[in-house]
Amino acid sequence: MQCVKCGAKAVYYSVYSGHSFCAKCFMKSVEQRVRATINRYKLFDPEDRIVIAISGGKDSQVLATIIAKVEKDFPGATLSALIVDEGVPGYRDFGLRRSKELCDELGIELTTTSFKELFGYSLPEIVSIAEQKGVSLGACTFCGILRRRAINVKAKELGATKVATGHNLDDEAQTALMNLLRGDVVRLLRLGPKPVEEFPGFVPRVKPLRYIPEKETTLYAYFKGYPLYEVECPYVRESMRDEIRSILNEIEGRHPGTKYAIVRAADRLSAMGASLKVRVGSCKYCGEPTSRDVCRACELLEVLGVTS
Ligand SMILES: [Zn+2]
Ligand SMILES: [Zn+2]
Repeated sequence: MQCVKCGAKAVYYSVYSGHSFCAKCFMKSVEQRVRATINRYKLFDPEDRIVIAISGGKDSQVLATIIAKVEKDFPGATLSALIVDEGVPGYRDFGLRRSKELCDELGIELTTTSFKELFGYSLPEIVSIAEQKGVSLGACTFCGILRRRAINVKAKELGATKVATGHNLDDEAQTALMNLLRGDVVRLLRLGPKPVEEFPGFVPRVKPLRYIPEKETTLYAYFKGYPLYEVECPYVRESMRDEIRSILNEIEGRHPGTKYAIVRAADRLSAMGASLKVRVGSCKYCGEPTSRDVCRACELLEVLGVTS
């Protein structure tokens, strides 16, 4: 098989486009599609202060690498990175080291924060307090809500106008399906490609890798020679997302294009739901934006008898 672009020996066949690529042209094609997403949905403004939420995993390494290239098209914009340490022993160590190394390579400043610093407790400590108090929520629920809060608080401190996250096509398809299965229509309608701006106090999030399948972010990182050492979070088996991931991979195997179709459907729903007005005020405890009186982060911390 030959590369459709340059005729060199192909190493990757894309089911979506029906084209084969050599490593170099494959990476270029990923970069072009990320650029196209950024331009089409106006993910960045010329004066943006962009903060990349980095984890050290393959997707965030790919994101940082491509955004560092794209940012050169936006000379008025600035770029930095942020990593949140949940404090799960052995889990984030590699990510912290790798993020530092990559940010140095790319010339991006990296800020580190932790659950401990922001909430007084690490994730395992919070999980064990929850168990003692008989709160039947999984670690992933705590982690998701607190991580979201941590990133927003720190991004604001850094003066960010956009937070870029490494969510890929697989993540987005999983989230869409999960919102549907939970009956969470509001979340489903908000899962669009555009920066969500209607929340005062919430730094808009953008997902430049939204249309890149996980297989391709993995391959991009591999061709770059990036370490793919991924430690699975010890709590991952508890999550519904993990079940949906397996189901979606099975269906995609038999019906290629399913993940893309789900994300496209979510895009159309979010375009229709753009006029949906959700009341957003401030949390009476912490002042962070929320559609309720007390935000979910404070509610969790209160249930646990932990104050931030
Ligand atoms: Zn080629
Ligand atoms: Zn709050």
